Amino acid sequence: MKMRLPLAFITNVKLFNSGFRIRHGIHNQVTKTSLLSSCNICSGAERKWIKPVGYDTGVMTYNSLTKQKEPLVLAQERIASWYSCGPTVYDHAHLGHACSYVRFDILQRILSKLFGINVIHVMVITNIDDKIIQRSLEENISPTVLARMHEEEFKKDMQALRVLPPAVYMRVTDNIPQIVAFIERIIRNGHAYVTNQGNVYFNTQSIGSRYGKLVNLGGIVGEQGVQDKRDPRDFALWKASKPHEPHWDSPWGQGRPGWHIECSTIASSVFGSQLDIHSGGIDLAFPHHENEIAQSEAYHQCEQWGNYFLHSGHLHLKGSVEKMSKSLKNYITIKDFLSSYTANEFRLFCLLTKYRSAIDYSDASMNEARSTLSTISAFCHNAQAYMQGHLQCQPIEEGILWERLCATQTNVRKVLADDFDTPKAVDAIMSLIHHGNCQLQPVTKVHGPRSPVVFGAMLSYVREIMGVFGVDLLDTKEVHDSSGVLNNVVEELVHFRSEVRKFALSVQDQAPQDPQPGSEIQKGHPQPDRVPLLKACDALRNNLAPLGVHIKDRSTISTWEITRRGETRKN
Ligand SMILES: [Zn+2]
Repeated sequence: MKMRLPLAFITNVKLFNSGFRIRHGIHNQVTKTSLLSSCNICSGAERKWIKPVGYDTGVMTYNSLTKQKEPLVLAQERIASWYSCGPTVYDHAHLGHACSYVRFDILQRILSKLFGINVIHVMVITNIDDKIIQRSLEENISPTVLARMHEEEFKKDMQALRVLPPAVYMRVTDNIPQIVAFIERIIRNGHAYVTNQGNVYFNTQSIGSRYGKLVNLGGIVGEQGVQDKRDPRDFALWKASKPHEPHWDSPWGQGRPGWHIECSTIASSVFGSQLDIHSGGIDLAFPHHENEIAQSEAYHQCEQWGNYFLHSGHLHLKGSVEKMSKSLKNYITIKDFLSSYTANEFRLFCLLTKYRSAIDYSDASMNEARSTLSTISAFCHNAQAYMQGHLQCQPIEEGILWERLCATQTNVRKVLADDFDTPKAVDAIMSLIHHGNCQLQPVTKVHGPRSPVVFGAMLSYVREIMGVFGVDLLDTKEVHDSSGVLNNVVEELVHFRSEVRKFALSVQDQAPQDPQPGSEIQKGHPQPDRVPLLKACDALRNNLAPLGVHIKDRSTISTWEITRRGETRKN
C-alpha cells in the first residue's frame, strides 16, 4: 500500500493541531491483502525481511531488521517517511542524546541535500511517563509543567546544535484519543487483553515467532513481578492510574498509555501502515522498537510496518564502559558542553566515526575534531586569500587540483552512499585539502599566471559538502557576535596595519641597535625612527590573537581570520 502524499501529510498535521480525531484515517490504511492469520504466525518464515518495492535511492543502509546493509528503497519516489523516537522530557538533554540526534540529522541532510530525497521526519515528544511523574513528585511541580520546561529546553539545545527540526514534533498527551482507538483495534484484532485491574497488555504469544524481529530473544524475558500478565514478555499498552497520577478516560477505566504505544499510534496516524525509516539510539531496539513493531503490525494486520530500522551507537565517556545516561548520572549537559566547544566542532566529532559505532568522548577526541575543523577553515581562508591576491604562490599545477577535486566529489558520494560512511568522506575531503595546501605555499616574488578559479571551485565544494553535513564554515557567530560588523571592522583594521607595516619596512637601512628577540624587526632593517611602528604592529597582532582575531603576516601583506577565543594557530 502506498504512503499518503505529502499534501495529505500536511493536511493531517493541521487536523491534529486542530484537535480533529483521525482514527478513521488510520483505519483506512489497513492492508487488507496481508492479514495475519493464525495459520502462519508460528512458522518463523514471517521474520524474513520483505524488500520494499518502489524508488531505489542508490544508497545502501544497514538495517537492524536484517543485520546487514540493504538497498534503501522508498515507497514513493524521492520521499522518505522517517519516524524517530524523541526525548522523554523530565531532565536536561545530555551529550549522549546530542550525539544520536546530530548523527541522524547528518544522515537526513545527506539524503536530502546530496541524494535529493525529501525526508519527512516526525518526532514524538514523550511528555507522560513514569520518570516524568516521579520527578514531578520529587520537585513538587506539575508533570505537565515539568515536561513543557524540558521540551522547550530540548528544542533550544537542538537549535544550538543546528539539528534541523522535524516536520512536526508530536506530544503524546495531544494524542490520547488516537492512542485509545489504536489499542481498541489491537484488542479487536486479538492481540491484546484487558485485565481486571484495568491494565491492557499486548499478547506476545498471539504473534508467535514474529515477536523478536529486531533482537534474538533467546534468554530475554520481559518485565517480571507484574501479577496480571499472562506472559512475562507481554507489555503494557494501557496502565491503570495510581492515586495522584495524571490520567485519562478510556473504555478500561482511568489510566495512561504505556510507553511503546505512543510511537506506533503517532507514526501510523501520520504515515499509515507503511513507514520507510525508523530511527533511534541502539538502546531503543529492545524492547521499545520490538514492541512498536509488534503493535503496529498487529494493528495494521500487515507483514511489515517499518522497512528500515536505523540505530545509532552509544556515546561513552572515555574510559567508561557505561553509556552516558541520566540514570547513571555520568552525563554532560548540552549547555555545559557548548560553553567549551562549538556546534561545528561537535558535528566534526560525530562525523569522524560511523553513526552506528559506539563513540568515545574525551577532550582528546574533541581536540582532534577541533583541529580537523581548524585545518578545513584555514584552507578555506588561505584559498580565499590566494583568490583575492593577498597570498602569493608559485604558479599552480592546476591539472592535479582539478583531477583531485573531481575524484573527491565522486569518492565522497560513493562512500556516503555506502551506509553513510562519514569518516571516509572526511578523509577524502582532508586529502583534497592537503593537495590544495601543498600548492598554497607563500612566496615573496611571483612570476607566471595565477589560478584563482581552481581554488574557487575547491573552496566552494569544501564549503558545500561541509554544509551538507551541517557544518557551516561561514558561520563566525558561534565564536563571535552576530552583527556582521566585526568582520568589516577587522578588515579595515588589518588593512590599516598592513599599510603601516609596509611603510615601516619600505626603507631598509642599517640594523637597529637593540632588536627584540622574536620581533619582526630582526627580519628587516627598518630605519630606527620607524621601529616603534613595527613594535606597535607586533603588539596589535599579539593582543588580537587571544581575542580570536588571528593576523598572519606574509612578507608585507597581512591576512587574518577569526578563530575561537584563546586558540593559537601556527602561521
Ligand atoms: Zn519510539
